[in-house]
Amino acid sequence: MEKSLIDANESLSPEKRAAIERSIGEIRKKIAIAEQKSPYGQKADLLLATKTRTPEEINFAISLGVKHIGENRVQELLEKYDFIQKDGIRLHFIGALQTNKVKYIIDKVDLIHSVDRLSLAKEIDRQAKKHGKVMDVLCEVNIGNEASKSGVRAEEAEEFIRELAKFENLRLCGLMAIPPVLENISTQKQYFQKIMNLYIDISRKKIDNICMGVLSIGMSSDYEIAVESGSTLVRIGTAAFGARNY
Ligand SMILES: *Cc1c(COP(=O)(O)O)cnc(C)c1O
Repeated sequence: MEKSLIDANESLSPEKRAAIERSIGEIRKKIAIAEQKSPYGQKADLLLATKTRTPEEINFAISLGVKHIGENRVQELLEKYDFIQKDGIRLHFIGALQTNKVKYIIDKVDLIHSVDRLSLAKEIDRQAKKHGKVMDVLCEVNIGNEASKSGVRAEEAEEFIRELAKFENLRLCGLMAIPPVLENISTQKQYFQKIMNLYIDISRKKIDNICMGVLSIGMSSDYEIAVESGSTLVRIGTAAFGARNY
């Protein structure tokens, strides 16, 4: 990135700013309505998935009160890191994570959503220890058992989480999933219910050293159903910023 990326107000057009502000306002309203419909009485936080977005766009969203920012590529996170206004912000890593790249983000992020194998957990634990921190993570669950997606299978999640609980510098804080995107809303709901049931099930086991406060489900196309189904954290990109240009 070459140009100066620091001042949000300088290079974002008034139209673009108005569009982002309007979209985030609408998302917040819809989340609030969905919270009312949820039988679990939980609150859902808004995380903006900021891949392809500039630091100006991200900082403008932060100026509107957004508290959670999620990047899904290590390289992109590192490029933007110094330009993001991080005061009071939780920075999340939400994408697939290669084991050999953990060292680049370990001191920069607050929650890693995509832990799905022991080799990755082991490296996160090792790097966290080096930095004298305990890294908060989510277990990613492949709730639709899709070949194209990462994540542990629902049937394997408990055993995997019991292994995660043994690491001293890693703390399991909940589950993350990207269910299949479906036209049929009732089938879509079944996947969210399946992950919610797993979340409740694992919470009830009272496994030591884990905290299970976060259920990260719901994206632009399905966040309202996700919140109605128990999501505590929705990850939204296009509904806030518009279509992505790669
Ligand atoms: C991009 C991304 C999102 C948000 O996707 P949208 O459809 O743009 O809302 C959510 N989660 C992950 C892991 C992503 O990479």
